[in-house]
Amino acid sequence: MHLTGTSIVAGRDIPGTGAPWRAVQAATSEPLGPPLRDASPDQVAQAARLAASSAREYRALPGHRRAAFLDACAEEIEALGDRLLDLAASESGLPRDRLTGERGRTCGQLRMFADLVRSGDALGVRVDPALPGRLPLARADLRLRRMPVGPVAVFGAGNFPLAFSVAGGDTASALAAGCPVIAKAHPAHPGTCELVARAVVSAARRTGMPAGVFSLLVGRGTEVGQTLVRDPRITAVGFTGSREGGLALVRAAHTRPVPIPVHAEMSAVNPVIVLDGALTDPAALAAAYVTSLTNGSGQFCTNPGLVLLPTGAAGDAFRSAVAREVADTTGRVMLTPGITEAYIEGSRRWAAVDGVSLLAQGKPGESPYAPAPVVLECDAATYASHEDLSGEVFGAAGLIVRWSGVEELLGLLENMEGQLTATLHGTDADLTTAARLLPILEELAGRILWGGWPTGVEVGHAMVHGGPWPATSSPGTTSVGTLAIERWLRPVCYQSFPDALLPEELRADNPLGIPRLVDGTLEPRPR
Ligand code: NAP
Repeated sequence: MHLTGTSIVAGRDIPGTGAPWRAVQAATSEPLGPPLRDASPDQVAQAARLAASSAREYRALPGHRRAAFLDACAEEIEALGDRLLDLAASESGLPRDRLTGERGRTCGQLRMFADLVRSGDALGVRVDPALPGRLPLARADLRLRRMPVGPVAVFGAGNFPLAFSVAGGDTASALAAGCPVIAKAHPAHPGTCELVARAVVSAARRTGMPAGVFSLLVGRGTEVGQTLVRDPRITAVGFTGSREGGLALVRAAHTRPVPIPVHAEMSAVNPVIVLDGALTDPAALAAAYVTSLTNGSGQFCTNPGLVLLPTGAAGDAFRSAVAREVADTTGRVMLTPGITEAYIEGSRRWAAVDGVSLLAQGKPGESPYAPAPVVLECDAATYASHEDLSGEVFGAAGLIVRWSGVEELLGLLENMEGQLTATLHGTDADLTTAARLLPILEELAGRILWGGWPTGVEVGHAMVHGGPWPATSSPGTTSVGTLAIERWLRPVCYQSFPDALLPEELRADNPLGIPRLVDGTLEPRPR
C-alpha cells in the first residue's frame, strides 16, 4: 500500500492545500514518508457534510451489519502486517513489542465493540407498558432506546499511535454506536494514521457501509482541528491528549452557536499512596515503582508521577532503593523532539522549586531524544505550597512527597485535582487508615487500585479510564471499555406509538431478542 500523505474523505484521496511538511523519525528527527499538506477549511467542511449525509443510512443499518464492519476493520488492520508496526515504530520511537501489543489491543477492542453491538445491550431499551386503568391517572405506553448522536470528530494521542488513534477506542465506540467518524491525523504519526485509515476504508467498502461513515483529515497545528470542531454538523468530540489541547477543544465546542460535548481524556499524575504496612520489602516495592515509572519512557497518561511516602526509616529505605534503581536506568527515545524538550524543561522546573531536591537520575540514551529518567523529592509542605508541582511532566519523571501522620496525608489528598487513577499500597494492618482515605479517593479518581501500578489499562466491561475534571472533561464516563459507547448515544422516548412505527428493538414481540427493562424488571434474554 502506497502512502500518499493526503486526507481521505469518504473513501477518496483528497490532497491538502497547506504548505508541505514531513513526518519525522522519532529517534533521529530525519524526515520520513511523503510530503503532507493540511486539509483546507473547504475539505474539512466536505468531510463533515459527507459524514452528516451518511449518518441516517448508517444508523439505520441493523446491528449485525455494523458489527461486521468493526470486525472487518480489525481484520484489515491485522492484514497490514509488519509494515504497520515498522512505520509506527519509526514515527513514534516506541519499541516493536509494545506496538505489537497495542495492535492486539486495538483489534481486540474493535471486536469487543462488534460483540456489544450484536448483543443489543448498549441500546438500553426500557419499556413501561400502558396502564389504562391506573388511578387517578392512566399511564401511557412509554418505550426508550438510545440512538447515535451523529457525526463524531476524533483526536488521538501521540503516545498510542494505534489504540488511542485513528481506529482506537473513540473511533471503535463511536462507529459501534452508529456515528460516522472524522479522525484528525496526529502529526507525530501521520503515516501510521494513513495506513490505519486505509484499512478502515477497505473494511467499509467490503461490508457495504455508506462512504461518509469514515474520513481522515491531515492537519498539523490547531487550524484543521478547530475548524472541524466548529463545523455545525459535528455533534460530539472524542479527544485523547494533553490538557492544553483538550481544554482548547472544550472551549471551541462550548462557544459554538450550538455547543457540543467534548469527551477529552487528558493528563494526570496518578498519585500512589504508600502506607506503612507496604514497606516490609522496600527494595521490591521500589523496583516495581521504577519499572512502572520508566516503562515506555514514562509516556503514559497513567504513569505514577507522584508517590506519597511516609517519613521514617522504612520510607527512607524505599527512597534509597528507588535512588539505586533509577541510577541504573537508561533513557529511551521519546515520541517527538517537542515532547523531549517539554520533559527536560518540566523536570528542571520541578527541580528549581525551593525545597525540592534531586533523588536520582538515570543515564541518557544514545539518541538526542532519549533523556535520562529522573526522580525528585520534597516534603508535604513544599508540595502543598507550590501548585506547579501538581501538574504532569510527561515522561519518566517522578516526584516523591513525604508525609508525616494521616492528617497530613488527608490534607494532601483533599487538595488534589481530579485524576485518572489513585493507588493504595498497604496490608491488612493499614485497613483503618485506608478506610479513612477511601471516600476522598473515590471523589478524586476514575480508577482506584489496591496494590499494583496504574500503568496498563485492561479493556473490558468494568474498566473506567476517566475521572473528574481536569483528568477528563466528562467525568460521567470512560474512554476505555464497553461503557465508552454511551458517550455517543442519547435516549429517545416513544410515547403511545403504534407498534409498526417503532424501531425493532422496541416492538412488542422483541424481534431482535435483546435484553429489555420492562416495568423496571430486566426481562430475561429470549433463548
Ligand atoms: P496533544 O499535543 O494534545 O495532541 C493530541 C491531538 O490533539 C493532536 O492531533 C493535536 O494536533 C490535537 N490538538 C492539540 N491541541 C489542539 C488545539 N489547541 N486545537 C486543535 N487541535 C489540537 O497530545 P499528545 O502530545 O499527542 O499526547 C500526550 C498527552 O496525552 C500527555 O499529556 C498524556 O498524558 C495525554 N494522554 C492522555 C490519555 C488519557 O487517556 N487520558 C491517553 C494518552 C495520552 P496538533 O498537534 O496538530 O495540534
